Amino acid sequence: MKAVRALFMYAALLTIPASSFAEDKLPFNLVTREQWGAQWVNPNSYTSAGTIVKFTLHHTAMAYPANLEAAKTEMRKIQKEVMTWGTDTAYHYIISPQGDVFQGIPDDKLGTHALNDNYGNIGICFMGNYMNDTPTRESQEAFVNLVKYLKDKYPGIAQSAKRQGDPDPKRRAFILHRETYATLCPGDKLVALQGELFARIFSDPKSEPLVYRDYTAAATGGEAYMPDVQLSSPW
Ligand SMILES: [Zn+2]
Repeated sequence: MKAVRALFMYAALLTIPASSFAEDKLPFNLVTREQWGAQWVNPNSYTSAGTIVKFTLHHTAMAYPANLEAAKTEMRKIQKEVMTWGTDTAYHYIISPQGDVFQGIPDDKLGTHALNDNYGNIGICFMGNYMNDTPTRESQEAFVNLVKYLKDKYPGIAQSAKRQGDPDPKRRAFILHRETYATLCPGDKLVALQGELFARIFSDPKSEPLVYRDYTAAATGGEAYMPDVQLSSPW
């Protein structure tokens, strides 16, 4: 771990080139690492995430930036914090309340956003604390368009979506962080939107209907879900 961190210490004012996103047109507004002023991370320090089959929704449980500049500042803060314990930005994509999608870890590389469940799992995080903050229309739109793009890029996601009702959350396509870890993340107000967001992303009528379970803090007596997990965290 020390060696990995030492690599980060070489951080120069270089960034992963935006050309890692070869697509001419993305269906969402991407803010590249260069644009938000990411610290350099050696591309060789990332590990492959394996076949991408799912994504996990998070919130930062931190600030709710008021504009693009504040969101860029927040990104630099997130990266600086994560680099003390994990990989780069931990998440692959981070969405601001304005609906901008910030580029984190390359989406085919291993993140550090879901303990023991990072392989094949894209981490998508909303800036803010959605126990109290309100998910904006813009951020929801960005999330839907981002995931539609990812499911076209990685067919395994649509396959997993057919198992969205699976009793094991790790086998589903659309995972809420609190389903696999003792945390309030991604916040009750985002949790309440899961069914609606799922329906907007996966409109394929062949998909099995979503078996929606109530994972709100109220429904679980204010305790985080997964009583067999001892740790507890806001994110
Ligand atoms: Zn989380």
